[in-house]
Amino acid sequence: MKTSIDAILSIEHPRHFEANAAYVLRELPLCVIERTRDTIHIFYEGETGASLLFTPEGFEVRIPSLEWVDNHIPTPTTRLIDRYTYHDTRVLESGFTYLTEYMIDLLHKAVELRTAGYKECKFCKKIFPPEHRHSEDVYQSCARIHLRIVY
Ligand SMILES: [Zn+2]
Repeated sequence: MKTSIDAILSIEHPRHFEANAAYVLRELPLCVIERTRDTIHIFYEGETGASLLFTPEGFEVRIPSLEWVDNHIPTPTTRLIDRYTYHDTRVLESGFTYLTEYMIDLLHKAVELRTAGYKECKFCKKIFPPEHRHSEDVYQSCARIHLRIVY
C-alpha cells in the first residue's frame, strides 16, 4: 500500500532496510512510496523513471513495466535491473563514500536506461516505452491498425 515520506522518516526503531530507505528519501523527498511489512518500494520520476525496492536482505534497482494478465489486461509492474546486498562488494568498489550516494547513482542510471528505451512509432510519430511496442518502431495500437495484428 502507498505510504508517506513522514511515515518512513518517523519510524522509531528503524530496521536496517528502513533506515536505508529513509536516507534515500531525505535526498529524494518527492518519490511515491509503497510499503509492506518487509519491503519499501520507492518510485522516482513515475512512468519514465525507475525505482528502488528495499528488503531486509538488500535492495533492487527496477524500472516500470507491464504485466499482461490473460494477454489482454495490462497491469503496471516493475522489472528487475539488478539486485544488491547492503554489503555488496560493488558498493565498496564503486568509489562512493556513502551507500546512499551509490543507490541514488544507480537509480539515476536506471532512469537513463528507462528513457533510452522510449522509441518513436513510424506511423503516429509518438514516443512509446518498450512495453507498449509491437516492434522496435511500431506502437501496439498502430500495429493493429496498420499491420492488422491481432492481440
Ligand atoms: Zn503509432
